[in-house]
Amino acid sequence: MGRTLRGYEHIAQKEHTCDLCQRYIQPGDLYRGIVSVNRAKKISVWKEHYHPMCPEEFFEEEEEIARRAEKEADKNERTVESKLRRAA
Ligand SMILES: [Zn+2]
Repeated sequence: MGRTLRGYEHIAQKEHTCDLCQRYIQPGDLYRGIVSVNRAKKISVWKEHYHPMCPEEFFEEEEEIARRAEKEADKNERTVESKLRRAA
């Protein structure tokens, strides 16, 4: 990430993209901006829907995708639960 320089809350005057849920922040929506600087002194601005305005169903979809990706990536691994059962 980097070091946070400042945070602000604005009402969008134009369309932005939310860096958290990747959906549009529409004009008139409240959003939060965080200005940070990295080690290379590059300034970047993070924008997100003002909490709790990110559409929640997105996160449910994303969690489901993450669960599938986890299974796919570690197909041959045993789950912690089964290891614990074996140890007991
Ligand atoms: Zn969002």
